[in-house]
Amino acid sequence: MAGIYLHIPFCKQACRYCDFFFSVSVRYKTQFVDCLLDEIRLRKQEGVDNQAETLYLGGGTPSLLNGEELDRILDVLHRQYTFGNDAEWTIECNPDDLDRDYLEGLRKRGFNRISIGIQSFREEDLKLMRRSHTAEQGEMAVLEAARAGFENITMDLIYGIPGQTLRHWEESVSKALSLPLSHLSAYHLTFEPGTVFDHWRIKNRLSPVSEETSEQMYRLLRDQLEQEGFDHYEISNFARNGNISEHNMIYWTGNPYTGYGPSAHSYDGTLRSWNISSLKGYMDGIARDEPVKEVERPNLTEKYHDYLITSLRTRWGADPDYIREQFGQEIHACFEKGAERYLREGTMWLQEGKVAITPGKWLITDHILRELFTTGSSKYEF
Ligand code: SF4
Repeated sequence: MAGIYLHIPFCKQACRYCDFFFSVSVRYKTQFVDCLLDEIRLRKQEGVDNQAETLYLGGGTPSLLNGEELDRILDVLHRQYTFGNDAEWTIECNPDDLDRDYLEGLRKRGFNRISIGIQSFREEDLKLMRRSHTAEQGEMAVLEAARAGFENITMDLIYGIPGQTLRHWEESVSKALSLPLSHLSAYHLTFEPGTVFDHWRIKNRLSPVSEETSEQMYRLLRDQLEQEGFDHYEISNFARNGNISEHNMIYWTGNPYTGYGPSAHSYDGTLRSWNISSLKGYMDGIARDEPVKEVERPNLTEKYHDYLITSLRTRWGADPDYIREQFGQEIHACFEKGAERYLREGTMWLQEGKVAITPGKWLITDHILRELFTTGSSKYEF
């Protein structure tokens, strides 16, 4: 399995909580697409495998690409890669970019999964976060996507927004569940350094919701979605009828992926790399045929940590046999020792030979990971 990720680094405006890499000026969009295509051609010459299982356009806001720009990108991808007939092709979109024509164009071009950034169905939340759309546009976007023929529709929601109560959150979740979704991702708001929200938090202009409310929101989310037949398969992700995100599963199962565009990450099974997080630096580098990425070879301990971080996010958990085979006896003993206590107290459980965090206990995943990293030897400190 291998996945391809394209980072489209443009947004109409800056959401106040966001620390992704993006630019609010689309002045260089055409030039950026030229560079992106050059990067795909150049990297292929380096011998990247040409079989691809998934394609994911993320950002930024990929739905700021027009039909012609999408055609140019897909044309080059088709020349460089072979996709299976049932390859998952996802595009992230903002609701205000979606009308029937655009959505039908996406379907015709081969996208079979759409991820709509709705975040909340409450106007006050959207205004506070400085989203570029209304709640009604969010709802209409999902309905229009279904009418345009998308059967695999996912949306993002955010909870723990300052001023959001449990009741508000329940209303957003209920609205989401009234729509034709196959998947839902829900993230707790975080105050990332450098964002407007973090600045306001420091200045006491807004306060994070309490830990107790956060937990109640998470439980409500889980309960409501499970009642409606969604499978809680990853900390923040729920799927109906088996529609798990195949692209994200590539990340969570340690399979290779190739990322193109500024700030995009790649992993070839041995080496990790990440592109420069600067639009100008990226475009200048590509134009001059200079490297735009940094590369590192993770050591055994780092690979073990990566494996825990990704596998324990999912309900399938970590495989002790795999840990012994891949990372050796000493690391395996460290894992067993750390997991033993959690298994005993019921925070982790064994299923089909794998050790997973018990459903409902995912809120303390970070704590468990730290313990599993450090137990037995300070060598494994996170
Ligand atoms: S649209 Fe998405 S990527 Fe752009 S600023 Fe908002 S959250 Fe960040």
